[in-house]
Amino acid sequence: MKIYIKTYGCQMNERDSEACAGMLVEKGHSIVDSEEEADVLIFNTCSVRELAERKAIGKIGIMKKLKKLNPDLIIGVMGCMAQNLGEALLKKLPHVDFLIGTGQLHKLPDILESIAAERHQAALLEESPEVLTGMATHFYGRENPLFAYIAITRGCNRYCSYCIVPYVRGREISRDIPDVVQEVKKLVDSGVREIMLLGQNVAAFGLNGDTNPPPEGVSPFADLLHELNKIEGLKRIRFTSPYPSYFNDKLIDAIATLPKVCHNLHLPLQSGSNRILKKMNRQYTAEQYLTIVNKLKSRIPDMTFSTDVIVGFPDETEEDFNATRNLMNIVDYDNAFIFKYSPREGTPAAKMADQVPLEIKEKRNEILLKDLAVRSERQNRELIGSTQEVLIEGPSKRNPKRWSGRASNAKMVIFTPEPSMQIGGLAKIKIHRATKASLFGDITD
Ligand code: SF4
Repeated sequence: MKIYIKTYGCQMNERDSEACAGMLVEKGHSIVDSEEEADVLIFNTCSVRELAERKAIGKIGIMKKLKKLNPDLIIGVMGCMAQNLGEALLKKLPHVDFLIGTGQLHKLPDILESIAAERHQAALLEESPEVLTGMATHFYGRENPLFAYIAITRGCNRYCSYCIVPYVRGREISRDIPDVVQEVKKLVDSGVREIMLLGQNVAAFGLNGDTNPPPEGVSPFADLLHELNKIEGLKRIRFTSPYPSYFNDKLIDAIATLPKVCHNLHLPLQSGSNRILKKMNRQYTAEQYLTIVNKLKSRIPDMTFSTDVIVGFPDETEEDFNATRNLMNIVDYDNAFIFKYSPREGTPAAKMADQVPLEIKEKRNEILLKDLAVRSERQNRELIGSTQEVLIEGPSKRNPKRWSGRASNAKMVIFTPEPSMQIGGLAKIKIHRATKASLFGDITD
């Protein structure tokens, strides 16, 4: 069958779609680029924001027209929205043939075959730990052959008061170290040089079921980084997103000492106000967060930081907002995903009093975005004269005479290639010019 997959949401969803496409291709199906030529339409959905759900529902609703023209067309919904809305979604969109929740994605090829054979409607929504290994080692259509996402945990035990993820993705489950190492080795053999480890709380890896951060001296995630660092041919390890409280000295030491772990950390802050952090049910204070950052900065002076921040959380005052703004300047993030809080039905924060008006959220959002632009431009300028080690990706999209690659700190670097250069290798580039988006330089010995 010809299958079209549309993906909404986060990197985990992208990875899930890629694994599902891989499983389907292995079963003899093909992946197509347009809805019109497909026998099967699959929507991999997101529930983090109500808007994302509305968008997906609107899109799937329009597909009714295609089904009228082609009654054999199979339409499926997978991922968070299927899990969150369950069979109510089938009632709302009766032209949908199947739902497959986040814990059952490894069964996608089977459910598809049974629906094609029997033309019944189905919903597979139970939690299943087998999904983790079931989805591993299946890949399809990776745009950058040097780079791969690896899902190492699924679900979340933290219950931040604004977040729907623990309700739709379920309790945290992890793969084991040998299983992840085996998958990465296989990818390296196929040409991958850089990996991004994924999980809702990636630093909770290996703590199956434990709802507390590990004590000092214990970090299965650090153990995993040590094992991955030993893999010959693998050049770089990145990860997203870790929950700050899981950073003990063992993990900080692994990040600081393992040469393949990149010097760029995405560390979600959410708010710089302790009062708001408490209401968010985040289990750290601004001071504790800053202690982690300072420890990392003192061990890794060239470390860059990015984050997630929510503005306009219920009852956020000007003072709370300024605490966030101030902390962002102190950490000196070079990138941030700034979200205007929007209530998510089914979460405690949606019922909180003192929702902040939209105009105030917008104003605060704009202020943080402006700060961010000023900071990242300055930081890029400060890198003029430095030498950056880049993973060579090949000809740059804008000017194929120049090549590009990413530095360990995640900055894009553009340079003039040398004939002996190999895609996937590492090169040292001396930076002589910087813009907001990129660094420009020449190879140095
Ligand atoms: S840590 Fe908090 S924000 Fe992140 S997925 Fe878990 S509940 Fe959601």
